[in-house]
Amino acid sequence: MKGLLSHKVKSSELAPGDHIYAYRSGYAYSHHGIFVGENTVIHYVRKDEGSSSSTIISGLISRFSSSTTLAASEKSFQSTCSKHPDCGRPGNGVALFCLDCFLRDKKLRRYKYGVTPEEFKAKLRGGTCTIAKSDPPEDVIRRARYLLKMGFGNYNLSDHNCEDFALYCKTGLLIPNKEAFGTSGQINSVQAALSSVGDHSSVIEYTRTYNETRYSKDIGVRKDAVEVPVEDVASFLNRREGHNLEYPKKKNHDHCERE
Ligand SMILES: [Zn+2]
Repeated sequence: MKGLLSHKVKSSELAPGDHIYAYRSGYAYSHHGIFVGENTVIHYVRKDEGSSSSTIISGLISRFSSSTTLAASEKSFQSTCSKHPDCGRPGNGVALFCLDCFLRDKKLRRYKYGVTPEEFKAKLRGGTCTIAKSDPPEDVIRRARYLLKMGFGNYNLSDHNCEDFALYCKTGLLIPNKEAFGTSGQINSVQAALSSVGDHSSVIEYTRTYNETRYSKDIGVRKDAVEVPVEDVASFLNRREGHNLEYPKKKNHDHCERE
């Protein structure tokens, strides 16, 4: 039961297309990515190395209007790694790392898909599992590799972060409304915790409200998630929040036939 709840796995047990994560700064937050085989991970990192973590934390605090302590996001990374020739290769904020550089000596954990509502609610910490089912691994890897090349827009801790990236690769789902927050279980659990504060007669009642709110925000439960083909992610993000992404135009096959 303990292993079931902790999500720890050995690297030998990983399969390409798995969504993995590791905690940072103790258990303050977790960093997420997609394992794509050959000991490598594709993940979404901040490009703006210069901006300080306090800016991001205060930005989040003002958005939540409360003093949450969710830590800063992953910064981009200049790899000096000798373990894999491609490790650290930047790709428009999306990067490919070897597993060791991704983990930074922290325990490897695997995100769970298709869990039951009971299992979901039994976990008090957000960002470890979802009700949503994973698409087949070849689809997951294709999305991750496409975004590695083409980018995933501007990092935003509250609704466009490393967990949103991994969830998108696994499910193809994004949230169209910027005001509704993203898909990240970490962020939604903080939001649920804050919105559940009120007149509760007991801790049990508070926990129940928290869990119901968190559950209702899960990407596999909420009704506002839409499927977005990876080639359309740029136009989707540009429309949603003024990202300035450009993906290649689709080939016109009518034209090909005539040649
Ligand atoms: Zn490395």
